[in-house]
Amino acid sequence: MERRDFIQGAASGMLLAAARNLQSQSAHDRTIGIQVGAVSFIDEGTEKVLDELQQDASVNTLFVATFTYGRGIAGRQVPGQPLPDHGKQQYDTDTFHGGSYTAIHPQYYQNTVLKDFRAPEFGTYDVLESVLPAARKRGMKTICWYEDVFRRDVPNIEKLQEKDLYGRNATTLCFNNPDYSNWLTAIAEDWSRSYDIDGIMWGSERQGAFSNALGASHGGASDPGRVTCFCSFCEAKARQRGISVPRARAGFLELEKFVRAARAKQRPVDGYYVSLWRLMLKYPELLSWEMLWTDSLRETYAAIYGKVKAVKPSLGVGWHIWHNNSFNPIYRAEQDLAELSQHSDFLKMVMYNNCGGERMATYINNVGSTIYGDVPAQELLDFHYRVLDYQEKSLAEIPKTGLSADYVYREAKRAAEALAGTKTKLWPGIDIDIPTAADHSKCTPDGTKEAVLAAFRGGAHGVILSRKYSEMMLADLKGAGAALKQMGIA
Ligand SMILES: [Zn+2]
Repeated sequence: MERRDFIQGAASGMLLAAARNLQSQSAHDRTIGIQVGAVSFIDEGTEKVLDELQQDASVNTLFVATFTYGRGIAGRQVPGQPLPDHGKQQYDTDTFHGGSYTAIHPQYYQNTVLKDFRAPEFGTYDVLESVLPAARKRGMKTICWYEDVFRRDVPNIEKLQEKDLYGRNATTLCFNNPDYSNWLTAIAEDWSRSYDIDGIMWGSERQGAFSNALGASHGGASDPGRVTCFCSFCEAKARQRGISVPRARAGFLELEKFVRAARAKQRPVDGYYVSLWRLMLKYPELLSWEMLWTDSLRETYAAIYGKVKAVKPSLGVGWHIWHNNSFNPIYRAEQDLAELSQHSDFLKMVMYNNCGGERMATYINNVGSTIYGDVPAQELLDFHYRVLDYQEKSLAEIPKTGLSADYVYREAKRAAEALAGTKTKLWPGIDIDIPTAADHSKCTPDGTKEAVLAAFRGGAHGVILSRKYSEMMLADLKGAGAALKQMGIA
């Protein structure tokens, strides 16, 4: 061999090795997460589930639903939806209850009246105690995943509930109520001290009174008389911020009248949009109250973050950011990622594309009955595509087709740009078989694959396969795995 050839050969060998090293490093850095609840480990066996997750989608991080009263992330498939091709072929309608799927260590709950919240359905089973060692052995990380969803029959819950415009208790809890804010940090401290976990994720799928009054989300039409929160803690906080509580109440009572009239198609003389602006100009407290709620949520993030970091700085702490971020421009405006990054090691920005079509259509229908009552629905959708910066099919089509992978790409790119220069990792939530109406779009292996590829192409540092393993078809999960293989990180 000529010397020159030898040097060239050695150099290219070194380059190859360097490339391989870079690849394995970045593969290691990329979080391939999945949301999974206790029921899956119980029904299918811990090792079997972990085998499947590693084989099908190279999962390296478990987001275990350690606390919730909701069916979105815990329990088996929701009733009315087809059971997936794994797990017990039976609905848990009669047995699902929710709560904490880990032991409760009472010493952490001295400063809250919320002490009795253990999920009863699996006896003394502790999902962390059971799954952590098995995951650790495989080099998988475990993140505790909990959400802002409660039942009405939890002991003492009424003392934590928000108050609506008329002083009635809501089913939601108030971030400014010390019994709730203390509980939120207490449970994070409990997990951080009691178990060898890798991090905490919390999510709140709610918004403030102004957006709620307008029904500006993809949920069912909300009652404008039930907007929150007007409890004594929130009113005191408002006064501290210089917001007049009586004027805020007066403004929301006017807004309630506006929304009820709009839904009854009683058009104001100057139309819906102009009349709403008149109300906002007369009562800027409407927006102040919205921001009071949003700031309280941000303070909750900061409190949980601070508590966990005080226990163990190496634990990762981040937030699930609600799908409404893709639909409602007001809610999106409140998700200031640079601001959020101060107290976020990672953000799970929801970018569920398949169910996104159905959800966007519902959102358009909701705001088309209030603030935009004068705008034809397709025009209203086109306007939202423009201001939210993505471009999808027509209103008639999207429930049947879902949103495309390009939606995921654009949402990931936008979030990555907003987070540039911060410490915060972007891990988009990827839709794998999130329930939709029977005649609406369903996930496919290819669709899942394209969504994962789009998220990374947009600049994501990882993905979180959502919402729960117990509702996913294995073929669609394997679609995510195929994307990772194609990228050379599986
Ligand atoms: Zn309150």
